[in-house]
Parts: sequence; structure tokens; C-alpha cells
Amino acid sequence: MSKVISYAAVSAKEKLAPLHIERREVGAKDVQIEILFCGVCHSDVHTARNEWQNAIYPVVPGHEIVGRVMSVGKDVKTFKVGDLAGVGCLVDSCRVCPDCVDGLEQYCDGEIFTYNSEDKHFGDGRSAKMTYGGYSNQIVVDEHFVLRISDKLNLAAVAPLLCAGITTYSPLKHWKVGPGSKVGIVGLGGLGHMAVKLAHAMGAHVVLFTTSANKVADAKRLGADEVVISKNPGEMQAHLKSFDFILNTVAAAHNLDVFTELLKRDGTMCLNGVPEHSHPSPSIFNLIFKRRQIAGSLIGGIKETQEMLDFCAEHNITSDIEIIAMKDINEAYERMIKGDVKYRFVIDMATLES
Ligand code: NAP
Ligand code: ZN
Ligand code: ZN
Repeated sequence: MSKVISYAAVSAKEKLAPLHIERREVGAKDVQIEILFCGVCHSDVHTARNEWQNAIYPVVPGHEIVGRVMSVGKDVKTFKVGDLAGVGCLVDSCRVCPDCVDGLEQYCDGEIFTYNSEDKHFGDGRSAKMTYGGYSNQIVVDEHFVLRISDKLNLAAVAPLLCAGITTYSPLKHWKVGPGSKVGIVGLGGLGHMAVKLAHAMGAHVVLFTTSANKVADAKRLGADEVVISKNPGEMQAHLKSFDFILNTVAAAHNLDVFTELLKRDGTMCLNGVPEHSHPSPSIFNLIFKRRQIAGSLIGGIKETQEMLDFCAEHNITSDIEIIAMKDINEAYERMIKGDVKYRFVIDMATLES
């Protein structure tokens, strides 16, 4: 085992602060990675503050991890010391269920998330140890869950692809977004800005819905064909019954009906956001009259995450980021909650002193 330094929440109410944690020995199939950058996802805030009522403290958040391979186990085939490597939201799964066999490990009942999951490598059957995420200078992960990273892209700006990128890429692909589709993206935050870039690169007509009037010019620069201020009913009405697909990335409870009524017959609104409090119940009339659907989607499997990273390398897509020092994480959380980030904070792990 090796002791490493991290930033952790020790309770829902306290600020994140330095904490020494243990990483396991590098096993035969493990890759040990020096973490160079880690993105800051809104899920980190939800978990650190126990907004989903499932936090086991201490929580070391962070699942948008990029870095360099420090060592590999004897059976590792795809990575060698010095390679760039990425880790997203998953570090293990059962490997044998139909979801795992289909490369959809995120839907496996035995999935192990990068943080705040029971860590089977440490569990002694009595007191489970939890996984610790990327707000740290090092991590050890099974080769199957480690992603290859192109050296053509800015490494810090690649980090958010590991969650925000794949979480939006997966539903856009699943609902077959492409040339000829009219797609709505709701919310221009970490997920939303990646969704705009990806849907644009897939060839769709992209409409961004935002509550922030000051994000209109940015949304167009990022690839939106149109931008709608969702608080303005007149602007919303102009798009009634016109969308094939809407991807909703909002991190707070809100009225879904103003979006479902914009869907065409058989259109789908997929929810990515997981707010602390439930959305008000949606109108059934809005759904039955045009056979519309409200769906959900969870991150993406490992195979699809690699596909997304390769797609981004090919299309020169990365996240728009603000680099921060580790010690500034608590202020970054406050700014993110206010929607004041353009469009993802990324921690420079060189600022984490051991
Ligand atoms: P974020 O960067 O904070 O972006 C969320 C955006 O939602 C904000 O920028 C804002 O956009 C909009 N928003 C926030 N509060 C709002 C409100 N009260 N009413 C309307 N709009 C509001 O968060 P993120 O990292 O993109 O994450 C978004 C959500 O997805 C979080 O709940 C996160 O936990 C969840 N998530 C889910 C998955 C999954 O697998 N399904 C994966 C990762 C994250 P505007 O200013 O443009 O309105
Ligand atoms: Zn995330
Ligand atoms: Zn499984």
C-alpha cells in the first residue's frame, strides 16, 4: 500500500481539506497513474455535501482524471510507464453480467465508481473501505478501466471528457443524433457545453437553452445554431413540437413541461442532471398526446468512453476550462453552484503539496 495526499470532505458541512489516504499495491492487472489534472464535476459537489444521501466519509471526489503511467502490473498489456492515461467515473464492475458483456459497465449492478463506492480490494467483509477519487496525486486502477489519451490535445482540457464528455456523448449516440436532427441542450455548464460541441460535431442542428443571458455569445461560439433563454416563454413557444431530442443537463429541480412540449411526436428528453430535490411531476398530457418520452442516461461504458476520446481527438474537441489550484476547490464549488464557470474547473495536481 502507498500513502498519498488527497483533498477530502469529512462531513457534509465542512470544507474540503488535505487528507492522507492509502492506495493499494499495484496488482498484476493494475496501472498506477500520477494524476496531473482532475476536472471538477457537479456530482463531486452533490456527493461531498451528501445531497444524494449516500456519502460515506471521508469523500475524496474527482472522476475526470488524466495523468501519466508510473508503473504497471506484470499482466498489463495496453499501457507502459510514461504513457498518458485517463480514468473516468468507473474503476470496476462484475465483468460477467449482460451489461458488462455488452460494454455497458455503467449499468452493471456490481459497478464500482471511482469514489464513494465500496472498494472490493480493501473490503475485509466487515468494514468496507470506500474508493477515493482524483483529488489526489496518484491512483491505482485495473487496466480495463484505464483510457488511452491522445497526445495531440491539451491534457488539462481533456480531463472533463472523462465524465462531462462521455455522459453527453453516450445519449447523443444512443438517440442517433446526427445530420437532420434538431437537438436541444438544456443548461450551459460542464456537461452542457460538451453536449453542444459534440452534437454540433455530429452534424445536428443544435439549440441551447440557458437561464443565463450572459452565456448566449459563448454558446454560439461553442457550436449552438440557436440560443433560447428558457425563462422567456415567447422564445420557448417559437420552438413548440419541433425537437427530435433534448438532453437536459440541469443540476437543479425545475419544470420539465416547458421542454417536453417542445418535442415532436415520439421525441425524447433525456435527463442527465441529478438534482438534490426531485423535479415537479411532469405533465402526463404533454407525454401521451405526442407519445413523447422522458428518459435517463448514466455516464457511458469503457468501450464507448474510448470511442468518445478518439472522436474528440479526431475532431479536435476538448473542454473550455479554468485551471485552479487544489486549495481553491471550495471557492470553485461555490462558483459552480452559481453557474459561474466557463465551463469546467480543472485542478492542476502539481499544486497539491504532499
Ligand atoms: P454545472 O457545470 O453546474 O452545470 C449545470 C448547469 O445547469 C448550469 O451551468 C446552469 O446552466 C444550469 N442550472 C443550474 N441551476 C439551475 C436552475 N436552478 N435552473 C435552471 N438551470 C440551472 O453541472 P455539471 O457538472 O454539468 O452537472 C450537471 C448535472 O449532471 C449534475 O446534477 C450532475 O450531478 C449530473 N451528472 C450526471 C451524470 C450522469 O451520468 N447522468 C454524470 C455527470 C454529472 P445555465 O446557466 O445555462 O442555465
Ligand atoms: Zn461527473
Ligand atoms: Zn456486470
